[in-house]
Amino acid sequence: MWSHDHQQFIVHQLPALNDNYIYIIQARAHPACIIIDPAEAGPVEQACRQYGLHPTHIINTHHHWDHTGANLALKQMFGCRIIGHASDAERIPGIDIMVSSEEPPVIDGLDIVILDVPGHTIGHMAIVIDDALFCGDTLFGAGCGRLFEGSYAQMWRSLQCLAALPDGTQVYCAHEYTLANLAFAASIDKNNAALQKRIREDECKRRQGRPTIPSTIRLEKQTNPFLRPLADDFCREYAAHHHIEHTPLAVFRDIRQRKDRW
Ligand code: ZN
Ligand code: FE
Repeated sequence: MWSHDHQQFIVHQLPALNDNYIYIIQARAHPACIIIDPAEAGPVEQACRQYGLHPTHIINTHHHWDHTGANLALKQMFGCRIIGHASDAERIPGIDIMVSSEEPPVIDGLDIVILDVPGHTIGHMAIVIDDALFCGDTLFGAGCGRLFEGSYAQMWRSLQCLAALPDGTQVYCAHEYTLANLAFAASIDKNNAALQKRIREDECKRRQGRPTIPSTIRLEKQTNPFLRPLADDFCREYAAHHHIEHTPLAVFRDIRQRKDRW
């Protein structure tokens, strides 16, 4: 487990399953303690016992089992309340509180903003608390989620919404996929010095058994192939090279399709 200091809270990062991360947000001056996307109960139970944490809430970014699998077991264990997107309520096990960007959850001690980010699934949401972003399977280190339910236009809008957050925002995504994503990124973004530097640094972290996550919005904008269409020169060169329409959406769609076949 790794712990990250923020002004009002601490983020505990727990590896789970093969390559998932579960996060526990522990408010400093309040009892609030939120589990984000509990894939399995074991690591959460152990961390809570070891560090004396008392979860008050669970928030699921979306309905997939590797994000909600331990909802019911943890609710039973800790008596915590489960928060999910109102539009996906019937697919969130044990949901108690339905929220959306217009009606974010109110929890003492934490200033929670919800972003509706459909694409990977229709009811997918991202959680922003101060300078921390919990984005589930929408944005990954150098990648983005597959489009299981939404359209390219929806996912592109969702990614733009995340890219608009302040540069220093810490990106806590739900999977450690970064190295594989970077290998793909290097195949389509050959002259990107920031990308080459990230590959060196993230390979080093993994060799030492450390996570590549969190990253930052700044780093993702510089190196994530699914945010690179925001840069005019990249977008123009990519469109010309691959003979496609010169719009960010068309370039995003082409890169996403290429990654699906990769
Ligand atoms: Zn998912
Ligand atoms: Fe997932």
